[in-house]
Amino acid sequence: MTQARAPRLARWLWRGYLARHWRPLALALLFMAIEGASLGVFASMMEPMFDRVFVEGARDALWTVGAVVMGVFLLRAVTSMGQRILLARVAEVSSADLRADMLRHLMRLDGAFHQANPPGALIERVQGDVAALGKVWSNILTGLGRDAVSVVALFTVALTVDWRWTLVALIGVPLLISPALMVQRFVRARARQSREIAGRMSTRLDEVFHGMAAVKLNRLERHQADRFDRLAQDRIAAETRAAAGQAGIPALIDVMTGLGFLGVLIYGGTQIIEGEKTLGEFMAFFTAISLAFEPLRRLGNLTGLWQAAAASIERIKAILDTEPTLKSPANPVAAPEGAPEIRIEGVHLSYGDTEVLRGLDLVAPAGQTTAIVGPSGAGKSTVFHLLTRLVDPQSGRITLDGVPVTAMALDDLRELFSVVSQDTALFDETLRDNIVLNRAGVSQEELDEVLTGAHVADFLSAMPQGLDSPAGPRGSALSGGQRQRIAIARALLRNAPVLLLDEATSALDSHAEAVVQGALDRLSRGRTTLVIAHRLSTVRAADRIVVMEAGRVVEQGTHDDLMARGGTYATLHAMQFRDGTLNEEGRPKEGS
Ligand code: ADP
Repeated sequence: MTQARAPRLARWLWRGYLARHWRPLALALLFMAIEGASLGVFASMMEPMFDRVFVEGARDALWTVGAVVMGVFLLRAVTSMGQRILLARVAEVSSADLRADMLRHLMRLDGAFHQANPPGALIERVQGDVAALGKVWSNILTGLGRDAVSVVALFTVALTVDWRWTLVALIGVPLLISPALMVQRFVRARARQSREIAGRMSTRLDEVFHGMAAVKLNRLERHQADRFDRLAQDRIAAETRAAAGQAGIPALIDVMTGLGFLGVLIYGGTQIIEGEKTLGEFMAFFTAISLAFEPLRRLGNLTGLWQAAAASIERIKAILDTEPTLKSPANPVAAPEGAPEIRIEGVHLSYGDTEVLRGLDLVAPAGQTTAIVGPSGAGKSTVFHLLTRLVDPQSGRITLDGVPVTAMALDDLRELFSVVSQDTALFDETLRDNIVLNRAGVSQEELDEVLTGAHVADFLSAMPQGLDSPAGPRGSALSGGQRQRIAIARALLRNAPVLLLDEATSALDSHAEAVVQGALDRLSRGRTTLVIAHRLSTVRAADRIVVMEAGRVVEQGTHDDLMARGGTYATLHAMQFRDGTLNEEGRPKEGS
């Protein structure tokens, strides 16, 4: 990635986000041009000021010159303000559009992408990189609009006074070219590095804030602070180098200007001493060149600024250009109606080199409850991820009533499932919002029914604001059992034909478990239900039990079949019986 791509990046930004604002941008550019040209008018006033007013002593010229100069500054005041307001607004609007597009796109990207890109780093791209970019392009536009016009206007004045003097003033320009190119590459690399470090810093912050209790309990405060500080030091180094690189060009312009002045002073000064030129001419020329100096430096600075922006654009585009691999098909098939039969055939799935499912075959009959049991790491939760297409297998078929899951639109497919899992994702909103989610037109009766059904009503009275109590970040204001009941209420309200329960009652005590189990049993009636449960007490009532081990099904049948068989299930059962989780009838013991 070298600067050869810079024009492409600029074109992308223009077409995608700026072109639609061309009207305010054109007006802003007009204002900038007026602001820039006004300096030329001011410089050209020096000639009548010196020659007519000071040297000839013409009083009428004093007033004309004064009025023009005053007019110039009034005009500048109005145009510079207008231009800034217009630009600030376009910068904000286009940044907001870009952020919204990034968020939309990020939500479509697969689990693999999100595993490779931690949340903090993504937040930094959506927030930090867009902010860096928004600031820079408006600066660049101001530079081009105002400063470029200033420089042209001022050089026009200088040329009219004496084209030879102008050439002499530009004697140092060739010195600029090759260092400028080097500086650009350097700045882009440093800016990219600094943005990457910023991403790592945000990741650290995200992890520390989310793991605050773990940090405190393991006394990691110092360790985390040191790690963060090391990143901060690296960032200081990268930013300082980028700033030094950026400052390189204006510095070169300083040197160039010095040489120009020296040349003009010697060459022009001699002509004035010899009476070939007037003092007014020299002053007009001198003012024009002096005034051109600042905008010229700023223009020089733009190349560096642009390189920093390009580093951010590259990072933003890298996200937007990543295509999700898990997509809706081009011509989706309608989802099956009612509770479907779920069929998984010969599925192989690996995460990197780790083979998680090795030829999995599993059938969950329509409208019945199938329990999946097996040691942790066997791949049980992965089955749920496959059904809802959070991940696709490398090979094999997954069908719902014969329709492959990959043939349906993703939205239609996911609409078929209600998932209640051990790590319920609650949002930092009210309990009501967490249950209703984005569903429109939920009546109070429906809501009351699910609150009772999921036993949310039981703990609601103890909450200060009832259903309008906040759930806290990630649901932290609730206990594990309360969170699970909220998730069950969500599932009840959702009323989907397939129910996936992943350790849905694991965070409940045995009394609450019995109560919630009743709610789940009612919920699963008439639906195809898959249950993952560690406690075998919760699965014994299932129509079928499937035992998984190392990514394969090793046994299946009813509780009684499997017990009679004396295989893995019977062993697991005996173990739970022995450690006291179950009583003689295979039911959970009180208080366990
Ligand atoms: P179970 O639910 O039976 O405990 P899982 O289906 O959660 O098992 O996980 C099965 C295996 O897949 C585990 O060994 C786990 O380490 C691995 N695994 C799950 N998700 C990922 C992932 N995103 N990346 C890498 N490995 C994963």
